[in-house]
Amino acid sequence: MFNLAEERPFHPQINIAATIAVLVLVFGRLIRPETGEFGTVSHIASVLPLCICWALLSRTRRDVTFRIFGALSILTCAFACRIFLDKLGAHGDYWRFFAVALILVHAAVLFSRMSDYIVTAVLCGAISFIGLPGGYFTATGHAEFAIATGVSALIGVMLNITIMSAYRKLFEAKEKYRWLSGTDPLTRLLNRRAFMARFAEADEERGKGERCKGALHLAMIDLDHFKQINDRHGHDRGDAVLMAMAQCLQRHAPGLAGRLGGEEFAVLFPDCSRNEAMRQLDMLLREVRGLDIDGVSLTFSAGLVSAEAGENAERVLTRADRALYQAKAAGRNRIVCGETPTLAGENDLRPLPMPPAFAKSRRR
Ligand code: GH3
Ligand code: MG
Ligand code: MG
Repeated sequence: MFNLAEERPFHPQINIAATIAVLVLVFGRLIRPETGEFGTVSHIASVLPLCICWALLSRTRRDVTFRIFGALSILTCAFACRIFLDKLGAHGDYWRFFAVALILVHAAVLFSRMSDYIVTAVLCGAISFIGLPGGYFTATGHAEFAIATGVSALIGVMLNITIMSAYRKLFEAKEKYRWLSGTDPLTRLLNRRAFMARFAEADEERGKGERCKGALHLAMIDLDHFKQINDRHGHDRGDAVLMAMAQCLQRHAPGLAGRLGGEEFAVLFPDCSRNEAMRQLDMLLREVRGLDIDGVSLTFSAGLVSAEAGENAERVLTRADRALYQAKAAGRNRIVCGETPTLAGENDLRPLPMPPAFAKSRRR
């Protein structure tokens, strides 16, 4: 089920139109001064909650609060109309049907769940008609109003089904294109664009973590001698290797890894110290070394850097790429840590001592 509050296709416009309609209806007495006094406490007391409900409805982004305020705004609307129309006496009885029909049709666009719409419509009918002097619907001219009210509710139901099914299709298509535009088709990891966006998100979320507030590390990973794998075993096996690597990354850092292009990947380590990021990368490298992809074994080189708060993503990647270059130059199959840039922008890079387990590892 899609979240109508987040998508907000037409609520502001609809609510503005509905507010104007209700105000014209209930303040219609302004142009008919003979119908009684204006501006009493009950007028304000009935319109004020309505305006508050619509204001909250327009602002909320949460599905559950949208559903609650959606229903409340419709019910308050019915209540406000009831108070005003009761005071208009016989004249108000004719308006009652139009008010209810207007509310029921308007309500159809506010509910993504049919059950919500039906419950609200029934309560709206109850608020509008219960307790009226006997024979409202049977008095001359009012019987048709009962049929017309039922038809309005039916039109509301049809409208709700039609609009919501069209909107559901639109939402699904939008979700699909959003996924396609941010996903690497081969590995199903984030693509470069989506990874950069994820980096910006993690940068914004800095400080919310419990363990190591404000820290954000990024590693750039490049498979070693990947061209040889392609040349020796074929492009399909190369693709299988890329997918196996992606699965490892997804297991170690779900939602935080991306494929930058070719056999280059990047991974984020939010809210952890450099040692912790190094430890996680080390575990990843060990796992990758142990892979056997139809007879093909694999290693990677990685450059790990710490991102400054608000630092440009491309700049962080450039620093990570320089550390990665050092890892390649130092013999591959290893991780190199880049220094945090100084204020002057100096990026001294220094290979970390190899973890003991790496020293024994194979070298190609
Ligand atoms: P190094 O250890 O220095 O990184 O060497 P390398 O061979 O891994 O790097 P190089 O940049 O020379 O080769 C990368 C190769 O990756 C070249 C290209 O054909 C291959 N490649 C890029 N994208 C894909 C892909 O989607 N599938 C496959 N199978 N190969 C790809
Ligand atoms: Mg490369
Ligand atoms: Mg490579």
